[in-house]
Amino acid sequence: MITLAAGVHAAVVAHAQQSPSIEVCGLLIGTRGPDGVTITDVHPTANVAAEGCEDRFTVDPRVLLRLEEELEPSGTELVGVYHSHPRTPPDPSLLDRRNAALWPSFVHAIAGRDNGDPIAPTGAAALRCRPLVVRWYWSDSGGVLSSAPPCTPACSSLSKASKAAGSPPS
Ligand SMILES: [Zn+2]
Repeated sequence: MITLAAGVHAAVVAHAQQSPSIEVCGLLIGTRGPDGVTITDVHPTANVAAEGCEDRFTVDPRVLLRLEEELEPSGTELVGVYHSHPRTPPDPSLLDRRNAALWPSFVHAIAGRDNGDPIAPTGAAALRCRPLVVRWYWSDSGGVLSSAPPCTPACSSLSKASKAAGSPPS
């Protein structure tokens, strides 16, 4: 299960909103436990893709290494990566699926244009005006991506409360 601390979802949306044409990207920081991954912080990075940031992203590997070192004493670690699709829905592209194979057991979040309304007009021009939504995915140990709707702060405090109350599983 993916659990989001307060502000994580909003931080990804806010970063994606800054860039209407070029993909943004960043790293997700948190902890891994028996219940899955908890994301506590968002670290925006530059997109250093060598060819065309409009439809691809590359996290600066130097930032990645530095952050891993910085995080070590804090007890948190890199648990995921996010990027935006400024003009298309938040569905993983073929390239995204290939990239996910390089980041197994990782959270992959994509901020893209909401295509959830089946009667709304589609097409590039119509999509541009749609709100940005974030979809969350998990890459298994083989790097295969699957959709993983996260638990928000509200639902995690609810499950903590029910555990504290000792209520049996329903
Ligand atoms: Zn993508």
